[in-house]
Amino acid sequence: MNIVRTKEEISEICRKWHSENLTVAIVPTMGYLHEGHLSLIRLARQNADRVVVSVFVNPTQFGPGEDFETYPRDEARDTDLCRKEGADAVFMPAPAEMYRSDKSVSLMENRLSKVMCGMSRPTHFNGVLTVVCKLFNITGADCAVFGMKDAQQLAIIKRMVRDLDMPIKIIPAPIVRESDGLAKSSRNTYLSAEERKDAVCLRRALDIAESEWKSGEKNPDEIIHKMADLIKSVRSADIDYISAVDSDTLEAVKELRPGTLVALAVKIGTTRLIDNTVLS
Ligand code: AMP
Repeated sequence: MNIVRTKEEISEICRKWHSENLTVAIVPTMGYLHEGHLSLIRLARQNADRVVVSVFVNPTQFGPGEDFETYPRDEARDTDLCRKEGADAVFMPAPAEMYRSDKSVSLMENRLSKVMCGMSRPTHFNGVLTVVCKLFNITGADCAVFGMKDAQQLAIIKRMVRDLDMPIKIIPAPIVRESDGLAKSSRNTYLSAEERKDAVCLRRALDIAESEWKSGEKNPDEIIHKMADLIKSVRSADIDYISAVDSDTLEAVKELRPGTLVALAVKIGTTRLIDNTVLS
């Protein structure tokens, strides 16, 4: 497995693979890998001949006062896990390798990024799109795998690929959870023991949405109300948003239907967690 720190080297490796008629998948991550990330690598392996995992804590997607400096990092463990999972290359650039100090061009999305997480993180998705676009350009990947855990990110990336005619296939991967239902996340490491127990309320709230939907509830306000009631009963929890939206347009639905995305962001203590389900 290649461990690569420069854009030039990873581009060269991908160019060589393409010249041998091998397809390339990219799995963008911020590292501190867990089973969720590993499931993405596995899916990438099923969809391409060669897999590049990028490990880059992207400064431009963090807002002022967010956790860029404290975000967990462990390069040795990440490279080990990638090797075990059969990745062909890990791209681990330093911020100065990715961004020139006088950079003056970035991507902006004007609709889907304004709602949900975009309300409290107004510059986040522009940072995500810019770095993802750069990774696509640097690797020339044929496909890219993104987790449905970040459903809004996935929708916005699909929109970027559509609107900018990017020659890449986006492959969504299901959410991987802990045994009690908490979605795996690098940020779960911030939770105290007490908060870790409270954090299950996100999944419990989604359980309510699913069971109400199954018993015939069509009114999004009703389920959002019931989800909110449950979360408000948890001491360390503070709701950022609960939304029922179309999973492609992220527009609020007036009536629940199969494919509706029910998503939420909740602060547990100082840790902001997100989770979602798509109604079947
Ligand atoms: P991150 O390192 O948190 O930026 O995530 C990198 C990729 O892994 C994104 O496409 C995420 O959606 C995906 N991911 C993170 N956690 C999970 C999870 N629990 N299940 C599935 N995919 C995940």
